[in-house]
Amino acid sequence: MSTDGKTRRTGLPSNGAKPGGPATDAFQRPLRDLRISVTDRCNFRCTYCMPKEVFGRDYEFLARDEILSFEEIARLARIFVALGVEKVRLTGGEPTVRRDLPKLIEMLAGIEGLKDLTLTTNGSRLKQMARPLRDAGLKRVTVSLDSLDDAVFRRMNDADFPVSRVLQGIEAARAAGFAPIKINTVVKRGVNDHTIAGVARHFRGTGYIVRFIEFMDVGNSNGWRLDDVVPAAEIVAMISREFPLEPAAPQYRGEVARRWRYKDGAGEIGVIASVSQPFCGDCTRARLSADGRLYTCLFGVVGHDLRKLLRDGRTDAQIEAFLRRVWSVRKDRYSELRSSRTPGLPRVEMSYIGG
Ligand code: SAM
Ligand code: SF4
Ligand code: SF4
Repeated sequence: MSTDGKTRRTGLPSNGAKPGGPATDAFQRPLRDLRISVTDRCNFRCTYCMPKEVFGRDYEFLARDEILSFEEIARLARIFVALGVEKVRLTGGEPTVRRDLPKLIEMLAGIEGLKDLTLTTNGSRLKQMARPLRDAGLKRVTVSLDSLDDAVFRRMNDADFPVSRVLQGIEAARAAGFAPIKINTVVKRGVNDHTIAGVARHFRGTGYIVRFIEFMDVGNSNGWRLDDVVPAAEIVAMISREFPLEPAAPQYRGEVARRWRYKDGAGEIGVIASVSQPFCGDCTRARLSADGRLYTCLFGVVGHDLRKLLRDGRTDAQIEAFLRRVWSVRKDRYSELRSSRTPGLPRVEMSYIGG
């Protein structure tokens, strides 16, 4: 057996996956979801993601020619779909700051076999862009909004961006026909935890689904400490005190958010407990950075350079074989192994790899 997980004689991945079929990793996890970061830039400076002290005026973002073109992204997406990917999520950085984004959506929406095409955004540009994105074929949208308290929200986005404009963006998305719209709320102790019941209150009964996210130790710049994490159980208890909740069954295997239903029938929330209740066992996600590096885990350190393969003139079949091999030896389960030693380890930033 060679060290790259293939048997020398057969060339098959050591997990027994057959060439041509869906790709599975060393723990038999299929490759189902692809998150594509379309830019490493953002118009916000959320303190937990792109703190100004690190992402200041002098920060060197990727140059234009380093970033994958729309044609390159679409080509890779097509190959990923051939390997079993059913869902593509565009992210960043802030994906809506990438010029002509609807054009990319249109290209991706045309890929046969792709079942779901979605986007995560800070909502700042949705008021103008919701309609063109929808018309281009985007199926769903998730909007990040950490608080409805304007002062708290402005402090967290650190770009003095008001809540009202994100709410206008969400409304524009609804009017454009996106449904259900999900809202992502990262919870950080002592920063916005006192306002999360307010977020629940605002969106319950509206059909929007809020997902509360434990503050994660992604990247090396956000000063993560375990003490800043409000565990999922505490988040649920805080909301349940005001609006009683009961657990709801997962909708599909690998669902990242645990679902909770309001007992009075006013809808549901989700809680993403990547720190207190890791879900690596069902992790079917690959991530593509804006400059074309493939990461098989959010906490990856080294990305596989797909841009080089594209620009060196490799064929689709060669790239597919490469991806299959990378996935077949994947053993990532960082969150399950997280320990007191892990926060200091080197890893890529979330704004680069895509949330
Ligand atoms: N700019 C877009 C946005 O904010 O929605 C897309 C990219 S952002 C990196 C994707 C998601 O990651 C957002 O919902 C954001 O709140 C979340 N996120 C960023 N840093 C995080 C952290 N340290 N812990 C948990 N979630 C984080
Ligand atoms: Fe930008 Fe999104 Fe990161 Fe906030 S979470 S800094 S909006 S990429
Ligand atoms: Fe997936 Fe890595 Fe997150 Fe585990 S830590 S759920 S393997 S991305």
